[in-house]
Amino acid sequence: FAPWDDPDEKPLIQFRNVTKRFGDFTAIDDLTLDIYAQEFFALLGPSGCGKTTMMRMLAGFETPTEGNILLSGQDIAPIPPNKRAVNMMFQSYALFPHLSVRDNIAFGLRRESKDKAKIDERVEEMLRLTRLTKFAGRKPHQISGGQRQRVALARSLAKAPKLLLLDEPLGALDRKLREETQFELMDIQEKTGTTFVIVTHDQEEAMTVASRVAVMDEGKLIQVATPDVIYEAPNSVYVADFIGDVNIVEGRASQTGDKVDVAWAEGQPPIHATTQKSFDRDAQCYFAIRPEKVHISKERDDSRPNVLQGKVIDIAYLGNISTYHVRLADGTMMKAQSANTRRLANRGITWEDEVWLSFTDTAGVMLAR
Ligand code: ATP
Repeated sequence: FAPWDDPDEKPLIQFRNVTKRFGDFTAIDDLTLDIYAQEFFALLGPSGCGKTTMMRMLAGFETPTEGNILLSGQDIAPIPPNKRAVNMMFQSYALFPHLSVRDNIAFGLRRESKDKAKIDERVEEMLRLTRLTKFAGRKPHQISGGQRQRVALARSLAKAPKLLLLDEPLGALDRKLREETQFELMDIQEKTGTTFVIVTHDQEEAMTVASRVAVMDEGKLIQVATPDVIYEAPNSVYVADFIGDVNIVEGRASQTGDKVDVAWAEGQPPIHATTQKSFDRDAQCYFAIRPEKVHISKERDDSRPNVLQGKVIDIAYLGNISTYHVRLADGTMMKAQSANTRRLANRGITWEDEVWLSFTDTAGVMLAR
């Protein structure tokens, strides 16, 4: 059982019908959510959807207008920010420039305890955990951006919070370092067993690090699920469109059992799909399919139940894969993606080529809206 599927598991954090208003603007709208101990939980959504507000309420910088937030079953409303077993790591890291790496990490501990030996031991442990022992004597300006990020992390974890909030923790790092650091972050999260809640704009980052992802829109949760479910079984056009690349076709449904035909464009054959949902006859529906599930070839291939003809308008070469932008006869643009296992020059599909797109009846998902 994953903790979120285990009826006996108690959540570490519970948002219970939480609403947060700023004046007459509703930033968080009657939101209910459970997060479990040791999860690496990601909040994802467009700018302004309320991610930071969620974090600030957990940290204690904002209070809910309505509803409750519980930590280990206790309402945290009366507990001031510095007394919560919660820490927040900011994107700016907020390191003290005049203090060494070691003293930055020790800072919070020294304010709370006089036991020098114990503090020193904890700081050494944090230095080891974040592989900073060698740099312990340096000042923040004498280390790299990635190392500074690790100092901020070590400092946030030093007091062993139950919950660490990470607001765009890797935003300041370049792409390659960011990817490396994602794995480091996962490793540290696993070693410490601390629950991490991360806010990120980068959906790939959320999918990489998170045990579960919450996709938000306008103060509401749209879908909360593991990354693979979010990607392969989005519950709405919104989620399908927000995460990754997707082709979405709007049409009218006609269903028999788990088979649906989607009539979607004049002169195009209906799309044959399989679904567990039910659609009323002629109800408006959407068919969403990832580009990598669409097969592209210069010969008509009838081995799959869906076959569409079009012309290659553009090719985006990404090294390991290429994305083909194909215009169908009715004007619809569709993307197909394939692995570049052979050299591009030998793949034989180029601009302006007439091509056939094909996909199976289970390659996409049917959505009501
Ligand atoms: P971003 O990704 O841009 O950081 P976000 O999803 O974190 O966005 P929030 O910062 O949580 O969004 O803000 C949610 C909404 O609440 C926004 O429309 C914002 O303008 C509004 N808001 C946040 N704080 C306040 C405040 N103190 N007073 C008024 N409105 C606020």
